[in-house]
Amino acid sequence: MIRTGLPHIWCPSPNFGERKSAVDMLLMHYTGMNSGPAAVNWLRAEKSGVSCHYLVDVDGAITQMVCESKRAWHAGKSYWQGVEDINSCSVGIEIQNAGPLAAFPDFPDVQIAAVIELSKDIIARHAIVAERVLGHSDVAPGRKIDPGEKFPWERLAKAGIGVWPNMDRAALEV
Ligand SMILES: [Zn+2]
Repeated sequence: MIRTGLPHIWCPSPNFGERKSAVDMLLMHYTGMNSGPAAVNWLRAEKSGVSCHYLVDVDGAITQMVCESKRAWHAGKSYWQGVEDINSCSVGIEIQNAGPLAAFPDFPDVQIAAVIELSKDIIARHAIVAERVLGHSDVAPGRKIDPGEKFPWERLAKAGIGVWPNMDRAALEV
């Protein structure tokens, strides 16, 4: 069982399978639902056929639903650099945000701080390179828009997570 070392709630989902490749990607989503608990319920419902490793709620609380060694069902039909089975090679984080349901609300600071800490934990354990910290919209363009234009990629990049254009990575303290 691979769980985050950070404080979290363990709410297992039955929606997972075996990975067919090693983890080398971190994939960000927003839930597009009205509340964190509703999203957790959906990601744990057998009939939904979807899941994710983690959900970070608006208050920064982390819920883990699938062991990181297992293949969660969050990417759907997707593609990146010749690979189509993104679920097999990625860890998925769902970030609670209603998206288009509420005119794309801002992500609270405390939530992003938790996303940053969780991402650092995952990246370190799987040695994920910055160029493979991606959004769902990157791997499913035209089909998915999450985590959306409000998602603070620049703030994450300044914390050493992912990439941002024209940033001097050598100057970062990571
Ligand atoms: Zn998504």
